[in-house]
Amino acid sequence: MLGNNLTGYDDTIVAPATAAGVGAIAVLRLNGTNAIDICNRLFPAKDLHKQASHTLHFGSIVENGRTIDEVVVSLYKAPRSYTGENIVEISCHGSPYIQQQIIDACIRAGARMAKPGEYTMRAFLNGKLDLTQAESVADLIASNSAASHQTAMQQMRGGFSKELSALREQLISFSALIELELDFSQEDVEFADRTQFYKLINEAMQVVKHLADSFQMGNVIKNGVNTAIVGKPNAGKSTLLNTLLNENRAIVSDIAGTTRDTIEEILNIQGILFRLIDTAGIRESDDTIESIGVQKTMEKIREAGVVLYMFDVNQTSVEELQEQIDAFKKDNINYLLVGNKTDIAGLAANQAKFAGIENILYISARQHEHIEDLKDRLVHKVMSGDINTEATIVTNARHHAALQEVMKSLIDVKNGLDNQLPGDLLSLDIRRCLHFLGEITGQITNEDQLDFIFSKFCIGK
Ligand code: GDP
Repeated sequence: MLGNNLTGYDDTIVAPATAAGVGAIAVLRLNGTNAIDICNRLFPAKDLHKQASHTLHFGSIVENGRTIDEVVVSLYKAPRSYTGENIVEISCHGSPYIQQQIIDACIRAGARMAKPGEYTMRAFLNGKLDLTQAESVADLIASNSAASHQTAMQQMRGGFSKELSALREQLISFSALIELELDFSQEDVEFADRTQFYKLINEAMQVVKHLADSFQMGNVIKNGVNTAIVGKPNAGKSTLLNTLLNENRAIVSDIAGTTRDTIEEILNIQGILFRLIDTAGIRESDDTIESIGVQKTMEKIREAGVVLYMFDVNQTSVEELQEQIDAFKKDNINYLLVGNKTDIAGLAANQAKFAGIENILYISARQHEHIEDLKDRLVHKVMSGDINTEATIVTNARHHAALQEVMKSLIDVKNGLDNQLPGDLLSLDIRRCLHFLGEITGQITNEDQLDFIFSKFCIGK
């Protein structure tokens, strides 16, 4: 077993499984070969060794004659547990003091404190999860929107590691054939059908490209879309921001340019996170504070995935708007035109005024008119890159980097085939490709890499 090569993974570990702080109950988890022994020492009510797996037991935690708490103990015997090892979960009363007392007693009885991610790491080492699944556990714990929850769930159930493993197996059988040819190099035979192989490489490139491309969308789902609300002072940006957030954090004021700093807020629309950035107005200014604001605005615009350009329909000329559109187009900015304050002159008059300009969304931020349309348009903008959120999506930067390496080596293999490279050179490129594929699913790992991956978890996971 891989775990035997790693240090400290035979110990029995303990940590709270529930969040820190005071709750009605807290769950402490003991995991490892001695988990049942250790709990037995503190749980006089019954001999847990004699109890069946997947059963609950009521009793007290007692150390040296002192009762610490009344608890319920759940028993999961190896290998039928999350980590594949013995697990005892102690549900105690939620006070941090009691939790600490019980954890200390477990440590005195032979356990040690778990490191961040150690439970999931053991599940991985014992073959209960592959690496992409383990990493998605971290994402699942951290997921804060419906869409990111869905992607994390899907990865945990096997997601794209299945696709990659299938690919890897095909490549392995091929490289075996090519290496066999090397043994018969005097005889000039070809065991590995090159046309077949060419087809396989092309298919592999498609799968890998698709997965690598999904990274951007995956990131959008996981981290949110940077959304900049920009426009001249008094266009109504702060009002819109407040309307969208339904709370009054940004300063709304009649005085031009009071929103000087950039304020970041997050909005959850149909499961997609939009990181809203309210910026100081775009305008030329001699005032230093204001021009710092303008500079920041320009930076934010370049960083933004989508820009909401707000203008006051009553105060903006058609020429001015056209100039702004041309500027966005020149800089390849993904923008949405939002004409605000339609309540003053009325929608029909506004539409007539800007008839020559397409795709303006008319709203009244203050009267809350057409805000739902605005949300729909935002979601549509994100989704329209013919991206399907049901599909397998790569959200992990490590996977993305490895996928790019896989792609590079696949290109080398393909070039090798085109140039009728000898089998031994071809097989080197295939091996490199296999190496990076294996890195993604964890078939190839080293201790440092594992420690790095699992250290991103919090303790008790
Ligand atoms: P910002 O400088 O772009 O952030 O603009 P604000 O949100 O501070 O709005 C400037 C002024 O316009 C405030 O007095 C708002 O109440 C007003 N305002 C914002 N939206 C509307 C709207 O839809 N209709 C009307 N009539 N006034 C609005």
